[in-house]
Order: sequence, then C-alpha cells, then structure tokens
Amino acid sequence: MIAIYCSSIHGSAEGLCEECITLRAYALRRLEQCPFGEDKPTCGFCSVHCYKNDMRLKIKEVMRMAGPRMLFRHPLDAITHFYREHRRNRNFASRTKAD
Ligand SMILES: [Zn+2]
Repeated sequence: MIAIYCSSIHGSAEGLCEECITLRAYALRRLEQCPFGEDKPTCGFCSVHCYKNDMRLKIKEVMRMAGPRMLFRHPLDAITHFYREHRRNRNFASRTKAD
C-alpha cells in the first residue's frame, strides 16, 4: 500500500522515499505492539488509538489513495485483503458483544 502511495504521490521510481520508510517502520512497530495482535480489527475500528495523530492522518491518506489503486492493480490481492478485514471486523464485533 505504502509503495503504491509513494510511487504515485512522491514519484519514487523504486522503493520508498525517506518519509514513507519512516511511516512504514512506524506502522509495523505499532502493529507488533497492538494488544489485539492477529485478531486486530481495522484501525478505524480499533479501540486502542495506537497511532499518533499525525501518523494516523498519514496512514489514512495512504489508505484512501492506495486502496482504489490496489483494487485496480492487484484485484485479487485487494479482494482477499478487504474480505479478511471484513471478517476480522465482524469477529471482533461479535466477540466484544459477547463479553
Ligand atoms: Zn514516499
């Protein structure tokens, strides 16, 4: 996602620019520390606001920009991804209700 964003918006031909490397490192670190781990709902649903505000905005921007492009470039990957997110969110919702 970040790679698509970076090449489209920042014009990086290969790999990521410095800003996007930082963003990716940050996102990965937050994901590791997330208490929900693998069962994590999408960040929009997440009750733990693990992203700092400015990073959240950037991630949101990346998602908004790269989401539709991902669907266009890698339709299967995108569908699998959104399907998994959907299932995870549903599981998460039913589990919190049961608690
Ligand atoms: Zn970039």
